[in-house]
Amino acid sequence: MEKNANPANRLTVQAAQAHILEKTFPLGTESVTLPSSLGRVLAEDIRANRDLPPYDVSAMDGFAVYAADLAEAPQSLLVIEDIKAGDTPKMALQSGQCARIMTGASMPAGADAVVRVEDTREQGDGRIEFLVSAKPSTDVRYRGENMRTGEVVLTPGEAVTPGVVGVLATVKQAQVTVYRKPRVAILSNGDELESLEESFDPRKIPDANSYALMAQVQSLGIEPTLLGIARDKPDELARFLKRGLACDVLLISGGTSVGVHDHVRPTLKALGVDMHFWRVEMRPGHPVAFGTKGQTLVFCLPGNPVSSMVCFEQLALPALRRLMGHRHLFRRTIPARLAQAVKTKPGRTEFIRATLARDASGIYTATPAASQSSGDIRSVARADALIVAPATSGSLSAGTTVTAQLLDAALFQDAPDMG
Ligand code: AMP
Ligand code: MG
Repeated sequence: MEKNANPANRLTVQAAQAHILEKTFPLGTESVTLPSSLGRVLAEDIRANRDLPPYDVSAMDGFAVYAADLAEAPQSLLVIEDIKAGDTPKMALQSGQCARIMTGASMPAGADAVVRVEDTREQGDGRIEFLVSAKPSTDVRYRGENMRTGEVVLTPGEAVTPGVVGVLATVKQAQVTVYRKPRVAILSNGDELESLEESFDPRKIPDANSYALMAQVQSLGIEPTLLGIARDKPDELARFLKRGLACDVLLISGGTSVGVHDHVRPTLKALGVDMHFWRVEMRPGHPVAFGTKGQTLVFCLPGNPVSSMVCFEQLALPALRRLMGHRHLFRRTIPARLAQAVKTKPGRTEFIRATLARDASGIYTATPAASQSSGDIRSVARADALIVAPATSGSLSAGTTVTAQLLDAALFQDAPDMG
């Protein structure tokens, strides 16, 4: 049964997210090569296949010593060997001896510490003068200190970042099992819409949603299929929707409200889609609907460009991330202080487009976009966060601490900051 078809049943954003995620499971798995694994999600345990370091090694360029010889400094020791990374030491140190050693080279038997080259002086007679004393273990990295053979180093659900690629290469994982990417179809609908390819007609509305949604999906690492624009006719709409239902996720924008030309929901029902809810207590984005057919998730997003993008963020993005196998489904939030008052109407959770800046005390300040109109796409273009104004909060005064959901643009700043 479609929840909330009766407007008296109010569905919160959190409840809508929970309904969607109840119907959403990670897709199957596939094997990809290491160089193409970035952004994917691991679907298997990854184990170390050797100890690292494989033997005790020097952490510095310097001299391997027996620390007891250098309890006091200065002191001079005889060099018996040069050991490079990759060499197997040929001799064991006796008291009074040292070995020249490079970073990553194997410690010789009998040595228990390394003295950095900067703390020594060549005497020119085969002996080295040590200017500092030494303690056992200094600048030695022990066998297996970083990973041990058989140890699980990565687990399913971990996203492949550049650091993870480094770990995978370290354990020689040339092929990786990851979750399959969802196939996503995007459909716009409305008689007034003009596609990117159509000739310019100043009285038409450019189809922004197909492309904004495409980019939102692409930023998750998924290449969606654009189905184009369906006109407001049930039979034409049905033809497009059938194609979309062959994918894992179908995103439709427009035609989901109560207008007499809003055919999306009835047409989906006629095609056998189970509609689970319609209308969520959010602003922008109230007339959003969600359905499933088999494993396919169907999101009916409002036509206003900002509403469509905000609904994608709140409802479709967590579902797509779950399909991809991610553990972390939601955008990171941070507390931020409002730079100016915001008018809200109680009863719906509001998502306010804002820019973020850090003040002198290190606190983030959120400045709401001048226009919060759901038709004003430029308010999203400049936003690096969505401020969440809870349904119960009412208007917010300047200085209020609010929750800000970070968008991709928030990840970069104009100057370095080393703390
Ligand atoms: P609807 O949800 O179909 O009633 O549309 C609501 C508003 O969003 C109308 O002003 C539409 O013209 C506009 N709209 C619908 N689809 C798109 C789209 N793909 N791109 C830009 N605006 C749209
Ligand atoms: Mg319409």
